[in-house]
Amino acid sequence: MKNSYQYENTLDFAKKLDAADDLKHFRERFYIPEQNGKSLIYFCGNSLGLQPRTARNFIESEMLQWQNLAVEGHFMGEKPWMYYHKLFKNSLAKLTGALPSEVIAMNNLTTNLHLALVSFYRPSQKKYKILCEGGAFPSDQYALESQVRFHGFTPDDAIVELLPENGEQILKTENILQKIDSLKDELALVMLGGVNYYTGQLFDLQAISKKCNELNIPVGFDLAHAIGNAVLQLHDWQVDFAVWCSYKYLNSGPGSVGGMFVHEKHGNNTDLPRFAGWWGHDEQSRFQMKKGFIPMTGVDGWQLANAGILGMAAHLASLEIFDEAGVEKLRSKSEKLTGFLEYLINSNPRLNSALTIITPNNPMERGCQLSIHVKKNGRNLFEKISAKGLIGDWREPDVIRLSPVPLYNTFEEVWQAEQILSESV
Ligand SMILES: *Cc1c(COP(=O)(O)O)cnc(C)c1O
Repeated sequence: MKNSYQYENTLDFAKKLDAADDLKHFRERFYIPEQNGKSLIYFCGNSLGLQPRTARNFIESEMLQWQNLAVEGHFMGEKPWMYYHKLFKNSLAKLTGALPSEVIAMNNLTTNLHLALVSFYRPSQKKYKILCEGGAFPSDQYALESQVRFHGFTPDDAIVELLPENGEQILKTENILQKIDSLKDELALVMLGGVNYYTGQLFDLQAISKKCNELNIPVGFDLAHAIGNAVLQLHDWQVDFAVWCSYKYLNSGPGSVGGMFVHEKHGNNTDLPRFAGWWGHDEQSRFQMKKGFIPMTGVDGWQLANAGILGMAAHLASLEIFDEAGVEKLRSKSEKLTGFLEYLINSNPRLNSALTIITPNNPMERGCQLSIHVKKNGRNLFEKISAKGLIGDWREPDVIRLSPVPLYNTFEEVWQAEQILSESV
């Protein structure tokens, strides 16, 4: 499916789209950073989402609990810390298409990835390989390498990277599925990013999960760039596990708490190896402090440690906004917003000759982000647009990532972004 909206390259047209946007009021819920008294055009939500105006109050209210109740805060007050992690379940379930018992806010993404690999990467002498995307985010690469070594294998042999066909940047779903088929007797795990951080490609998670399920290969996704960005149905797709962070599209603050999904079918399986901690232990008997780990049912049984309440408070503030806006509506605006940016770049001859968008042009194969390959002097162009108030980010060797975010960006900003790019190339 190609973009089916009819766009025009005028400021008036952008303003009309903003006027017709039901979600436009959500922008007021965020602090928009400024430069010389002017709002920045912040297209960097793929890296660090903006601060919800309510986040400070949420954190402050926990500071007050701590101040006034101290240790009693674990069991008293409006949101007792002992049960704090439960407050996230409904919102995370909506964002991931999961049951509340399948999702948890805890730790950080990389920690959760290791915990998931302990349980779902169980290699044998014959089936020990992991299939992942070539050029995966470095933390994922290091996690996979170290897990493979931990089991006595060598990364060069055990990690198989999916690479695009000659000269292309994008992986074709049929090639991914074929690769899984061809390695079916050797694969112990398929682990991909939901959206590749570099190219912005959104993989067909449903088709990949289906294939893995048919072949009985565990499948997991790193949703760092997918959660809060794409519509996900992890439960129905029969994904085994997923992990994510909350500071990108989820706007929960730098390094804030991550999350994990474990499918219901594994939630009560005590045969799975897992690294345990007291917060994963049965809640009823946790404070008896006895020998012998009894896991909580569902993904809660993967928790390690008591929750970092202060950071999680910002996450809660942010998820409240997602609950109000709704993922489906956000996604529908996002397709238009990113489609508009794509249209403006492609229909401007100056930009068209200097830049190539490497992100797929099919909206079903991407989220908010467009990754723009700059043919010459990319770093220089990136610095120029930043100085003019257009904030994206730079990825070596020659890519600028721009991500208009449906919660707080406008069509007018997209139009201005094109003007800035056009004056700067
Ligand atoms: C952002 C990102 C991470 C970051 O990991 P942390 O543990 O949160 O530091 C990991 N993987 C991917 C794919 C990312 O995009």
